[in-house]
Amino acid sequence: MSSLQPVRGTHDLLPDESMRHRWVEETAFAAARRYGYGEIVTPIFEFTDVFSRTLGDTSDVVTKEMYTFTDRSGESITLRPEGTAGVARAFISNGLAQSLPLKLFYRGPMFRHERPQKGRLRQFHQVGVELLGVESPVADVEVIALAWRVLSELGLGGKVRLEINTLGDSESRLAYRNTLTAYLSEFRSALSEDSRNRLDRNPLRVLDSKDEGDRRIVENAPPMGESLTPAAREFFEQVTSGLARLGIPFITNPRLVRGLDYYCHTAFEFTTTALGAQGTVLAGGRYDELIAQMGGPRTPGIGWAAGVERLSMLVEAVPSALRPISIIPMGDDLAAVAVAERLRRAGMVVDMGFSGNMKKRMARANKANARFAVILGEEEGARNAVTIRDLDTGLQDEVPLAMLEEHFGRLV
Ligand code: ATP
Ligand code: MG
Repeated sequence: MSSLQPVRGTHDLLPDESMRHRWVEETAFAAARRYGYGEIVTPIFEFTDVFSRTLGDTSDVVTKEMYTFTDRSGESITLRPEGTAGVARAFISNGLAQSLPLKLFYRGPMFRHERPQKGRLRQFHQVGVELLGVESPVADVEVIALAWRVLSELGLGGKVRLEINTLGDSESRLAYRNTLTAYLSEFRSALSEDSRNRLDRNPLRVLDSKDEGDRRIVENAPPMGESLTPAAREFFEQVTSGLARLGIPFITNPRLVRGLDYYCHTAFEFTTTALGAQGTVLAGGRYDELIAQMGGPRTPGIGWAAGVERLSMLVEAVPSALRPISIIPMGDDLAAVAVAERLRRAGMVVDMGFSGNMKKRMARANKANARFAVILGEEEGARNAVTIRDLDTGLQDEVPLAMLEEHFGRLV
């Protein structure tokens, strides 16, 4: 393949699309700030261990999707496939255990070697949050409420559905593991190879299989709910009644498990039918053992991540950019640059074509959806004035150069 093609599964964000992405990100960050979150920026690569030891050695991400390479010092490095492991690593390496609870927001590119298709890329972007240090189900409610707020503010409230489940505490999971293993073993030979593998190592992951045959088997599997300890049941009850209290619509989906190994108790996903097979736009859950597993002090956590590309495909009402003022020089380009500079200094958005006749430059102004054109004609120039055309009405005014800022200050 030509080296001038982008790498498969990556894409360039040209200005219009980039605006949508920014808007999605900024909307998420603004909402997170109202909930008391600060932004954390971790490196986009980490030692491979950070991911392989936490995401689980049966997860798709670790077994098939990581971009791992040996760097020039011989270290095994991985481009981050998700945000939580890096945040947990940063929590430990910065000794943040003294500052709990911590509310962290992150955004940025993630890398997974997947089969590219609509809504599935090899470099994609996520926004996400992590709330560390709160054991109570109130944290789960608040974190889900924040997700719902973000989606609502993006105008997606009517397009997404919240599905929620509990994976219980470790005692519940152990009991369920046995029940599920017994059930799945009866169908061992009918399961996909991946699922047969997982059956021995982490049978819960079979529930998450995308294989059609597996799905039919999983449909009749005994539900997790029957294996929950009273404490785990009570925890989930608190989460769901909290959501109901806040008026956040949800359905419980007893088959919902998350693709990564570190989750316990609450697991949730916001899904849509508008994106074909790539229906999950935001997903998260609780991970009380993750930080301890990584070698840090045991610290409960809960968080979610959303795919910016998927959200960006769904959003309709992206606020439009400020309409510029276009400068149309009729001879003296440098005089035009000086006028443009003055207006920009006064806070206005100013566009200028650099070549072509009047007609061509007007066409450019229309294409940029300019609100006004400032025409620097020779005649007005001699009077130290310019012509200002209202591009919506076509009406023109001659305005003395000295009055420019004042004139626009009244209009825009
Ligand atoms: P999927 O089931 O679609 O593979 P996942 O369970 O692997 O998703 P998570 O690890 O939970 O996804 O990531 C959170 C969100 O990030 C997803 O809900 C999705 O919106 C987005 N996402 C994940 N992988 C990709 C990808 N390869 N391309 C674009 N967005 C992605
Ligand atoms: Mg995936």
